Amino acid sequence: MTESRDEQPINPADMGQPLCPNCLAPNDPHAYFCFQCSTPLTSHAEIDPIARIYATGDTWRKAKNRPTKLIIVLGMWLIFVPSIFVGIVFLYSVVMGEPLVDRSLIFIRLPVTLVGVVLLGAILWKTTINYLRSKPTSSADDYDDTN
Ligand SMILES: [Zn+2]
Repeated sequence: MTESRDEQPINPADMGQPLCPNCLAPNDPHAYFCFQCSTPLTSHAEIDPIARIYATGDTWRKAKNRPTKLIIVLGMWLIFVPSIFVGIVFLYSVVMGEPLVDRSLIFIRLPVTLVGVVLLGAILWKTTINYLRSKPTSSADDYDDTN
């Protein structure tokens, strides 16, 4: 816990309500996601395909917006850089007219690859910049959630 978090006095009506593991907000006992920070509260996201997509997106958003640990940034680099590299190699091969490039559906694969490389690069850039801009924090701030 930190001083920067919006502290709320303990309300007796909150007793028995599950607390969010991310922001400690008391939630409805039947809620699948935290009403405040959208962190999954139950294993429901493992069963419901739509909730799983939502939970995965929530994880990626948090990793991008508040990369508090270097390991998160390194993990994103390990995941994204190979995909970006393959995309750039593909784009380069098409532009240079490599004979080994499969040209079937090239009118679809080319723009999809281009958009993918730009999107992955932008996410990686944003994550890295957000990490570098965040001043070094103590381990107590690792779970701080302000948005
Ligand atoms: Zn929460």
